[in-house]
Amino acid sequence: MFYESTRGAQRGITSAEAIKKGIAPEGGLFVPETISSLTLEEIGQLAGKSYRGRAVAILKHFIDDYSEEEIEDCVNSAYTREKFGCDEIAPIYKLNENVCVLELWHGPTCAFKDMALQMLPHLLVKAMRKTGETSEIVILVATSGDTGKAALEGFRDVEGTKVVVFYPESGVSRVQKLQMVTQEGRNVAAVGVKGNFDDAQNGVKDIFTDHSMSAALEKKGLKFSSANSINWGRLVPQIVYYFSAYADMLKNGELALGEKLNFVVPTGNFGNILAAYYAMEMGLPVNRLICASNDNNVLTDFISTGTYDRNRDFKRTISPSMDILISSNLERLLFEMTGHNHELVAQWMNDLKTKGKYTVDSGTRKAIAKLFWGGFSNEEETLKTIECVYKDYNYVIDTHTAVGIDVYDKYVISTGDMTKTVVASTASPFKFNESVAEAIFGKESTKGKSEFELLDMLADRCGIEIPYGLKDLDKKKILHDRVCESGSMKDEVMQILNI
Ligand SMILES: *Cc1c(COP(=O)(O)O)cnc(C)c1O
Repeated sequence: MFYESTRGAQRGITSAEAIKKGIAPEGGLFVPETISSLTLEEIGQLAGKSYRGRAVAILKHFIDDYSEEEIEDCVNSAYTREKFGCDEIAPIYKLNENVCVLELWHGPTCAFKDMALQMLPHLLVKAMRKTGETSEIVILVATSGDTGKAALEGFRDVEGTKVVVFYPESGVSRVQKLQMVTQEGRNVAAVGVKGNFDDAQNGVKDIFTDHSMSAALEKKGLKFSSANSINWGRLVPQIVYYFSAYADMLKNGELALGEKLNFVVPTGNFGNILAAYYAMEMGLPVNRLICASNDNNVLTDFISTGTYDRNRDFKRTISPSMDILISSNLERLLFEMTGHNHELVAQWMNDLKTKGKYTVDSGTRKAIAKLFWGGFSNEEETLKTIECVYKDYNYVIDTHTAVGIDVYDKYVISTGDMTKTVVASTASPFKFNESVAEAIFGKESTKGKSEFELLDMLADRCGIEIPYGLKDLDKKKILHDRVCESGSMKDEVMQILNI
């Protein structure tokens, strides 16, 4: 299987090349030229496999330039019990007759980004070997909070790589920030940007397409790549868990083979929900993909009107990992929905860059609206949802998952659809404990307490264990204190790399 760029510059690229490059030279994203699918029988067989077995079965369709042993090797190194604390890796939790929660946060950094970033370094190191790469790879990352830590952790001390993470200095939770600035490892750096996630992501994309910078790096034997979901190697491991959720429901007798499911995905950069779309394209029986946003509801509007308009106030919310106005991976969906029309996509992306908005044709709009349903949850509704889910089910969810559940409720009210549904739970409640504790115990009881006192309070009162990765974070040494303007990210990278 080969890959091509959404803006038309390249075709016939192997998956190893696509993963190594991260982004195409003209700023387009790599997508598979064709997609192979699984038969229902093959999907049924996944039920008898472990998560690792399921991952091999799915991945080999997309990275067929890797041998089966190489894929097994990547999977076995990424998805271990030691790192994920459980053999299921991505277990499902039955909330009620209609809804299961897919817990994607058992990895070392307590958010779903680990599902891909524990795997990407292994895919990348092999890709370098397979393509005869001799340069060292510099991974540049823009993060709304969770990707940064997951990339630092995934790439720490991985030979032949360096990783530099840019996070919005005052746009992440305290736990998220501490996770990044205390990161150990010989090859890692974290830099706060005075700006929001979109500023950081634009800065990183500018660096990737700056030819004089790549030339300067080349002289030093260095090359850039990306660990954001613009890299296909980040997306492909995420396809697996949608199949895995389906397989688990088959196994538990929740579902008959062939029966359709809805997936609800709390969405920011559109990576996670796009992985669900690719799972469906591969034959997974899906009824509707429900795209859940917070107050930064640019995607909700896009799905209902066909106009993507980022000209609006950026809002800081209690679900900060979704505080995004430019959802990069929507570009891949548009490419798929227009039958791989790179001219149209390049035009829309250019409009987005120059005017901050674009409008798709009505055929594309209708095709998207048939498959996707968009909704959003405001701050008050998100908190209320955490409270209600705890009261009704004795189950603690984080703010992002709460956005998903609230939007699902709105979906049911609006459509009456009672198809069985899986909600992607994207972070551990401990990671956003301030809002979670406030929602469950009330403002009065949490007032004046530090995030770390709140961790203990949540653990004690709700009877759940503080994840290993978050324990004693406040006692760790701060190792990264760089801060820069969003306009000087290039200089920062040059300094860090000693160029
Ligand atoms: C990254 C993130 C999201 C958004 O995922 P996308 O793939 O960017 O749409 C949602 N929730 C949490 C907790 C995240 O870390």
